Order: sequence, then structure tokens, then C-alpha cells
Amino acid sequence: MPATAPQGVGQLRGAEPFPDGARRALADPQLRRNLRHATATIRAKSAAVIAEVPDWEQLRAAGSAIKADVLARLPELLEQVEARVTAAGGVVHWAADATEANSIVTELVAATGSDRVIKVKSMATQEIGLNEALESAGITPVETDLAELIVQLGDDRPSHILVPAIHRNRAEIREIFLRAMPGVDPALTDEPVVLAAAARRYLRQTFLTTPVAVSGANFAVAETGTLAVVESEGNGRMCLTLPETLITVMGVEKVVPTWRDLEVFLQLLPRASTGERMNPYTSMWTGVTPGDGPQAFHLVLLDNGRSAVLADEVGRQALHCIRCSACLNVCPVYERTGGHAYGSVYPGPIGAVLSPQLTGIADNASLPYASTLCGACYDACPVKINIPDLLVHLRDQAPHPRAEATAMAAAAYTMDHPALYAAAQRAARSSRVLGRRGRGLPPPLDGWTASRDLPEPPAESFREWWSKR
Ligand code: SF4
Repeated sequence: MPATAPQGVGQLRGAEPFPDGARRALADPQLRRNLRHATATIRAKSAAVIAEVPDWEQLRAAGSAIKADVLARLPELLEQVEARVTAAGGVVHWAADATEANSIVTELVAATGSDRVIKVKSMATQEIGLNEALESAGITPVETDLAELIVQLGDDRPSHILVPAIHRNRAEIREIFLRAMPGVDPALTDEPVVLAAAARRYLRQTFLTTPVAVSGANFAVAETGTLAVVESEGNGRMCLTLPETLITVMGVEKVVPTWRDLEVFLQLLPRASTGERMNPYTSMWTGVTPGDGPQAFHLVLLDNGRSAVLADEVGRQALHCIRCSACLNVCPVYERTGGHAYGSVYPGPIGAVLSPQLTGIADNASLPYASTLCGACYDACPVKINIPDLLVHLRDQAPHPRAEATAMAAAAYTMDHPALYAAAQRAARSSRVLGRRGRGLPPPLDGWTASRDLPEPPAESFREWWSKR
């Protein structure tokens, strides 16, 4: 089996299981208010623009089919990307895991002589813990996406794929800026326009004086070796065009075969993620262009457990993800706990199926249970990832306590024997002990009823009702 993401590096593993993190998050009413407001706003925006597209379902089916095709011939497509990028003057590096990717990027930055890099928002670099690796080599990474900047200045962790500071309101953001933003006006107010202007002043100066940028990539078009980044603020465009050196870290699953395939995703992604008809900034580049933009371009192709995910015929669907975050915004669990409870940089429903596969199920065993299996994520996903199916598949792989395994075996035996099953129903009803509201199961099964009520057994079973007729 291919290797999973290594321990001790990157941000795919939390310090505690999901239920512990969730319990703490649920006790924070401000966090819940912020989350409820933000997810409801994005949901409404997204639903309105999706309703405008008559062939949305066909687009989803096309997106899903293209991703399945990509995964079926990933090695061939990646070699095509490598050949095209190299032919266009770029340099391609293959990183088996987070450790290797971090050392490749750190060495590339060090070779430029710069002690600072500007960064485009990127899940892949967060996944591998690149900022920490750069800092330990004496290089300062500056996040330029506004929400990522808030998280970085606040010494915080992102809690949403698309809106990393979703857990912060504007009063909190003002405090963070006053405390940590270099050169900020002490008379700063918490008006969104004023906060954005303060960030713009600080970032503009940083863009103009930093010679190296690090980005992720939303897509790589294999037929030409073109990389694409979509964003809303223009900070990405600045990072991708102003510096002398550009280093892009991209998960190997981000490749699409042709421009025609890219067209499908450029329609799906903005409507499902930010609720926009198209992304305000879509930047594309192919290698280097003499006299225009960065004159040195490096592409780091990152595995970090993806080959292990690909090896699982059911689980590999998680690699279809285009990180739109629609599944987070509709998830009743995410809306109440926020992203930190998941531990990994990938929160919400997609995190619950991707993180345990990248790390190996033992390191994130509680995440497949961070769901009610309501199916809202499947309905919302623009590439039709059947997340509930994956959750069940992973629950099956997770280690189970002996008591639970014994109880399930007993239940299966009982249900397989009609007379025994009818007797068990009668026993449960006549005692009424298990069914009384507020009463839980006795040990060792009490964990199951710690946060659930057992349903009252009905006065008459279906079989009894049927036999009377
Ligand atoms: S799983 Fe689907 S809905 Fe969730 S982030 Fe990925 S593409 Fe978007």
C-alpha cells in the first residue's frame, strides 16, 4: 500500500478526538452565532445563482465523470503536466510527502536569498505545515488573503476552507489588527470598509517589496501545462504576477486533462463556493514568459497520502473534491461546531472523509462519526461526491470497541432468526425499561445513549399488526 501522510508534520491530525473539540465549541455561543450567520448567508447566495443554471445537474455529472477519468489515468496526466511545464520553462518537483515538499520549498526560497515570501491562500500548503517549516528556516511567510491574514495575525487556526476566519466577527478582527498588524492606524474602527483598507495598505507594501511568492493551484490543465488559481480579492493575482520567483504547491489530484474540462469546473466552483457567477479573478499561467511575470517558476507535485486514497476504490471519490466548501455550509454538524473541532485543516463533511484517508484511519478515527448521515453534503456537492457512503465505508474501517462489536453480532444474530427477533421485541416492550425517555442503556452500551434517547417500543409491532389482518 502507498504511504499515508507522515506524523509530526503538517496539519492533518488534531490534538484531540472530534467529540472533545465539538463539546468545547458548542459551549461558545459567540462562535455559534458567527457560524450560523455566515453559513446561512453563503447558502442563500449560492442557492440563488445555482437556480439560474438550467443544466446544473448535467454540469455536476460532467464534473464527476471528468474527475473519475482523471483518477483512472493520473500517472499519465501528471507526466503530461511535467512535460508541458518543463517545455514552457518551469521546473517540476515531485514530493512524496509533507516533509519532502517543505524542504523543497524552503530550499528554493533560501536559494533566492529572500527572507520573506508572500502567499496565496492554499489548502495544500496548510496541509503540509509550510508556514511553520519556513519560519523554522528563518523565512517569514505573509498570508495575503484577507481571512488568512486575520488567522495568521491572530495566531489562530483556519476554521473553514473558503472563509478561514468565519469564526471571527468584525470586533474581534479589529482587535487582532490593532494588536498585530505592522503600521496600523490606532484609530481603526470595526467598519468592514475600514478594516479592508487597513489590510490593503499593509499588503500593498508587502507585495511591492517581496521577490518570492508561494501559491497553491485550483487546477492544472495537462494538455498545455497551464496552472489556474481562482480567487476573489486580487491578492492572488498580485502574488502570481509581481514577484521574480513563483513556487506552486499542488496536490496531484488537481489535474484536468483539457481546457474543455476546465470550463466545466469554472462554472461549478464559483456558484457552489462563494455564490458568484464567476470568480472575480481567474489567473492562469504556463511556465514562464520572458519579460512578463515571474521569471522563475517551480511546481511541486504533492502526494502526502493521496496515492493511498487512490488505492481505495470506494474512498478515492474524496479526491474529486474541488474545495468549494459547499458541503461545510449545509452541514448541521459543522454549523454548530465550526472547523477547529475537526482537528485537520480540512473540516466539515469533506474533512471527515479526506483526513482519515490521508493519515490512515487510526489517526482520525472519530471523524467519520462527525455526521448525522443526513445527506445534505451529497446534494450540495458540485462534483457529486457521495460523502454519506464514504462515511459509512470509513466507519466500517475504524477500530470498534469490543462491547460494540459484541452487541452488533448479537443484534445481527437476533435479526437473522425471526422467532428470536419477535421474542426480543416482546421482551423489550413488556419491560419498557429500555424505552423510557431519559433512560439510557446499561453499561457497557451506555455510550450509545449518552447523547441519544432510545425510542419508545410501540404498543404493537408491525408483525403483530400484520398477522391480525
Ligand atoms: S466535497 Fe464537494 S461540496 Fe465539499 S468541498 Fe469538496 S467539492 Fe465542495
